[in-house]
Order: sequence, then C-alpha cells, then structure tokens
Amino acid sequence: MQGPALIAGGGIAGLTLALALARRGVTSRLFERAPVLEEAGAGVQLSPNAGRVLEGLGLGAALDAVATRPEGVSICDALTGSRLKRVTLGASAERRWGAPYRVVHRADLQAALAEAVAAAGMTEILLGTEIRAVEETASGVAIETVTDKGSEPVEGAWLAGCDGLRSVVRRAVKLPTAVAGAGLKAWRAVLPASAVPSAFDMREVTVWLGPKAHLVLYPVRKGREANVVIIGDDRVAGPADVAERWAAPARELIAATPTWTPWTLHDRSPDARLKRGRIALLGDAAHAALPSLAQGAAFAIEDAVVLARLVAEGGPAPFDAYQEARLMRVAKLQMNSRRQIRIDHLSGAAAAARNAALRLAPEAALIRGLDWIYGWRDVPLSRT
Ligand SMILES: Cc1cc2nc3c(=O)[nH]c(=O)nc-3n(C[C@H](O)[C@H](O)[C@H](O)COP(=O)(O)OP(=O)(O)OC[C@H]3O[C@@H](n4cnc5c(N)ncnc54)[C@H](O)[C@@H]3O)c2cc1C
Repeated sequence: MQGPALIAGGGIAGLTLALALARRGVTSRLFERAPVLEEAGAGVQLSPNAGRVLEGLGLGAALDAVATRPEGVSICDALTGSRLKRVTLGASAERRWGAPYRVVHRADLQAALAEAVAAAGMTEILLGTEIRAVEETASGVAIETVTDKGSEPVEGAWLAGCDGLRSVVRRAVKLPTAVAGAGLKAWRAVLPASAVPSAFDMREVTVWLGPKAHLVLYPVRKGREANVVIIGDDRVAGPADVAERWAAPARELIAATPTWTPWTLHDRSPDARLKRGRIALLGDAAHAALPSLAQGAAFAIEDAVVLARLVAEGGPAPFDAYQEARLMRVAKLQMNSRRQIRIDHLSGAAAAARNAALRLAPEAALIRGLDWIYGWRDVPLSRT
C-alpha cells in the first residue's frame, strides 16, 4: 500500500496503533481533534492480554514506573461489606497468563504511549485537527480535516478509525452511528490513598456489588492515590444516594471524596463488520462495550497490534484478515459485558443466590473463566 496510514483519534487505540505500526516500520499520520493529548477519566485496569501487547511494544519498564500490580481482586457484598470471593492476581496471574495484571492512571498510560510514539519517529501527530468527512478513492482514502485555520483535504493509503464512541469513520464503514443508552452512569474520582478507609486494601482491586449498582476501587500512581468508580442507575442523584444502604466503609469513602465526575454509559450491539475497503475500525469506534469486564482499552490495544501486524505482513487483504481475527472476539466482549453488569447489579433473592454461588465457587473455576480474556495472544489464524 502506497503512502502513510491515516489514524483518526489519539486515544488508547490510536496511539497504540501508531506505536505498533512504527515498531514494524510503517509510517502514519495521526489526527486528534483535541488541542492536547489528554485522557478523560481516571484509572484503567490493564489485564495481562493488554500488558503482553504493551510489553511487546517495549513499554514494560515505562508502565512499571507508574503502575501497580495488584495482588488480587476482592469481591464484596455492598450491603454487609463482607467478602464473597478473592481471586489471586500478582505473580500467579503473571505465571498463568504470561504477563502481569496492572492498574494505572490513564494520564500515565497515555504519556507512556505518546512518548514511545514520539521516540519511534514514524508518526506525524496533528493535534487540534478534526476529521469531518471520509471517502474511499481508487487508490486509498481521502479525508477532510478541519483546524482553526480552516479545512484541508488529505489522502492516505488507508484509514484506521480510532475515533471513539461517536466515531465519524463508522459512517464510511456504513455502520450505524447511534449508541445505545444503558440507563447507567459511572461516577469517577481519584483521591489520596490517605483518605481511603482502612477496610479497603490498597494492594488490591476491590469490587463491591450492591442492588442495581457496584463500586470498584484500586490504587493508581504507585499507591499514592486511589481510583474509585461507582456505576449505578443514571436517574439516581449521585454516589451518596446509590450507596445509601451500603455498609459503612463505602459510605465513608464516598463522604471522603470531594469531587465526582459523572459519565453516562453507552454501548453497542455487535456489528456485522469491522472494515470496509481500506478503512478499519478499532477500539470504542468498533465495539463500544459496558465497562463491567474492564476490557474496552485492553481490546483496543489488542486490535491495534493485530492490525499493525497484518498491514506490515503485506498480505493481499489485511483488512479482511483483521476483521476475521477480531469480529467474534469483540462481539463476545460486548455481549458478556452486558451479561456481567446484569449479574453485578442483581438485588433481593437473585443477589443472595449470586452471592452464595460466588462463596461456593472454587477460585480455580473463576480463574479458568477469565482465560478467554486474559490468555489472548496475537496468533495468526490457522487455515488448516
Ligand atoms: C467508567 C469506565 C471504566 C473503564 N475501565 C476500563 C478498564 O479498567 N480497563 C479497560 O481496558 N477499559 C476500561 N474502560 C473502557 C476504556 O476506557 C475505553 O474502551 C477506551 O478508552 C477506548 O479507547 P479508544 O481509543 O477506542 O477511544 P477514546 O478514548 O474515546 O479515544 C478517541 C479519540 O478520538 C478523538 N476523536 C474523536 N472524533 C474525532 C475526529 N472526528 N477527528 C479527530 N479525532 C477524533 C477523541 O478526541 C479521542 O481522543 C472503561 C470505561 C469506562 C466508561
């Protein structure tokens, strides 16, 4: 393919793709509408499937400088605060899945990716540049970009739509652009570790399951700060109302948090394709999912490394191969994320049954259930 790759969006998908292409000697031009690269939101869990890719791209040390490797995940009943199950992570996660489980502040992940992209010297990053229109041409892709100086046509060999939930590139792939409201809101906050009640173990990821809502807490900034997210009904006024009947530590945590950033949640049903011609979709532009499995960014990172490999390998139909490699997996994530949030938000007798099942479940069975996510490797599909 002639000319540079065009990348729409400089979020986790776009930056990882730029880096993965650079590592394979492919130049790209990345268009980001924001005037500076900055990640909205707070923390992000980077499970081993994502960690393995990022390590392969040379980011292991940069991540370890800013991330924590949690020792486990504790799942608790929000009404009583009692622990229902603990799943060990730490060294045993690394042994099983071949890469560590990390938790990190999004700004730190973004900075590590952006620095690596800049150091590789193969990507032109155009900030404050919005892609307004996309069209395929006989030899590649033409886009219209808009800056504060006006609009400009740009041509490239192919285009990666990494432009998030409300992707413009989706239109050119002839996929619906509407997103489904999930009736849910996430309230996100980062607070000093010293403000976190001692009932929360800052060496771990903690999940509290309550009626129609749940809370996730984990350390960021090497344990100096805690990332907290509460997900509940979007008609509820805020975290204090969500957790009105929850056990004291959650209410204390909420009272100790001065500012919450509300975030309306959306997802999409699986699509029939991830590409059209020389245009491919990655990340939330391709497969927006509810955050209940904490995999949106991880799957964007997987998408990026697969697409970069296929393009660099120079096969006859890299975008078809990309779609074939990713379509079923991303659909499974979207559907399982919806299922998981229904389970997490059960109330009454159904919640009691879920809690009993969690208490009884052998830890090994829960770990096996995560293999399809965390054990993923970018292995070319066999044609035999
Ligand atoms: C509460 C919550 C918790 C989460 N926790 C986790 C987690 O723990 N682990 C995990 O893996 N995932 C998690 N996720 C999901 C994850 O945040 C997203 O899936 C991921 O950030 C998507 O990255 P992206 O690059 O595809 O899209 P985005 O981050 O949305 O990036 C898109 C970029 O494109 C730019 N853009 C948009 N339109 C244009 C245009 N027309 N022209 C130029 N630029 C454009 C935007 O400015 C933006 O920078 C969570 C999500 C939520 C809501």
